[in-house]
Amino acid sequence: MSEAKTAVVVGAGFGGLALAIRLQAGGVQTTLLEKRDKPGGRAYVYEDQGFVFDAGPTVITDPSALEELFTVAGKRMSDYVEMLPVAPFYRLCWEDGSHFDYANDQEALDRQIHALNPADVAGYQRFLSYSKAVFDEGYLKLGAVPFLSFRDMIQAGPQLARLQAWQSVYKLVSKFIQDEHLRQAFSFHSLLVGGNPFATSSIYTLIHALERRWGVWFPRGGTGALVDALVRLFQDIGGRIELNAPVARIEASGARVSGVLLEDGRRFAADAVASNADVVHTYAALLGQHPRGVAEGKALTKKRFSNSLFVLYFGLDRHHSQLQHHTVCFGPRYRGLIDDIFKGDTLADDFSLYLHAPCVTDPSLAPPGCGSHYVLAPVPHLGNAPIDWDVEGPRYRDRIFAYLEERYMPGLRSQLVTSRIFTPHDFRDQLNAHVGSAFSLEPILTQSAWFRPHNRDAELANLYLVGAGTHPGAGVPGVIGSAKATAGLMLEGALA
Ligand SMILES: Cc1cc2nc3c(=O)[nH]c(=O)nc-3n(C[C@H](O)[C@H](O)[C@H](O)COP(=O)(O)OP(=O)(O)OC[C@H]3O[C@@H](n4cnc5c(N)ncnc54)[C@H](O)[C@@H]3O)c2cc1C
Repeated sequence: MSEAKTAVVVGAGFGGLALAIRLQAGGVQTTLLEKRDKPGGRAYVYEDQGFVFDAGPTVITDPSALEELFTVAGKRMSDYVEMLPVAPFYRLCWEDGSHFDYANDQEALDRQIHALNPADVAGYQRFLSYSKAVFDEGYLKLGAVPFLSFRDMIQAGPQLARLQAWQSVYKLVSKFIQDEHLRQAFSFHSLLVGGNPFATSSIYTLIHALERRWGVWFPRGGTGALVDALVRLFQDIGGRIELNAPVARIEASGARVSGVLLEDGRRFAADAVASNADVVHTYAALLGQHPRGVAEGKALTKKRFSNSLFVLYFGLDRHHSQLQHHTVCFGPRYRGLIDDIFKGDTLADDFSLYLHAPCVTDPSLAPPGCGSHYVLAPVPHLGNAPIDWDVEGPRYRDRIFAYLEERYMPGLRSQLVTSRIFTPHDFRDQLNAHVGSAFSLEPILTQSAWFRPHNRDAELANLYLVGAGTHPGAGVPGVIGSAKATAGLMLEGALA
């Protein structure tokens, strides 16, 4: 009997974990190597004085893609983690005091849309039909298909043209909807995956249909409980995970890779290597000794990268029962602020925020009667705005606290038990993210599908990518889809 094939996956974000599970379930002896002391990547978890803070993703959509990981491994997701429905999906608030509860309840939606602009009730229906058509094409058919050749792109061309993929999200939404608040409510979604609604392809309106179809979920115990569930699943089927294991180099000679070298000198040989680390880091640093790494690393730095984020985690000595689980707090400007975030070279005076209050769904994430929260503000990445976050971070924190206290959470600062910040410097230094981008390459049409770094390297035959920097892109459903695409290539290719 021939020996089992082996694979190394660099990085234990959602994409790396999902790929490692699929490979291990496919009979490949898989080792997952993670730089940090905990798995999850952007979905890291901080704990302090009984408060649990999910660091990153909190809006969990498409549970069927997660369930599939358990199914391919012969297990049941419900034995590992409990998913709780979130309703409304989000509350969207504006400074004029108005708000919109975006929920999976057509009657409630129609009532709220009617109150803002009666004509938009019919417009919303047309928008929803469009969004569903894009979802069928862009997500169900193409979301987990690797675009390795330009022919694949040409084949998808007619559908992309029919769906007017060259239009921006905001422009498309504006064709159907007149009210400015509603235009914002139905166009901000691309920001969740690092896409500028005024530049990103209207394909990203599919997120709306995706949420309407499967709902918005939150794991009991937080997103960290979902990460733990995936790690346990991987280990239960025989996978090996090493934490505190930063990879220094992917070893390559000629047109193949042979394994990885850790910073501590350990070597892991493998029949195939997949990187879930940032794509620029993968090529420029981990493959910096090989001509392919040098050339591709240089080419990638010329691409456009998504914005960064400023994230503020805080625990309060009470629960604010007026809050919903997810709140988007729109500031005074929409387009102007987004321009500043994606193109500006400084920090704008105003901000728009996303506020996470998970104790609304699961009070166990804080000590009894208390509340865990995080609030994030999209900010420019370090390549556009080399802000000194050591200085600006604490100031920005104080401005955001004052704003939240005035408008959303009375008494906030006197109720503070603990807080911490995560800045673009941390994305760069802790996650090795190029220019501190929170979502890797910006998802514009010319950096999507075949134009995005491919799931299999074009020259090194047994090197693969998985995660936000490859097809289809960022967001939990995106990187889980990338793992499916990459696993298919690996199991049919280097590991067959
Ligand atoms: C604050 C925030 C909120 C978000 N909210 C949502 C949301 O609500 N819903 C949603 O769907 N998406 C959300 N996203 C986006 C989503 O979290 C990411 O797109 C996704 O989690 C990225 O997963 P990934 O597989 O690409 O890997 P990452 O999470 O980027 O993980 C990569 C891993 O590689 C490791 N690594 C890097 N270099 C090395 C090395 N040399 N050796 C070993 N390991 C290495 C890193 O430490 C990291 O653990 C959010 C993102 C952020 C930052």
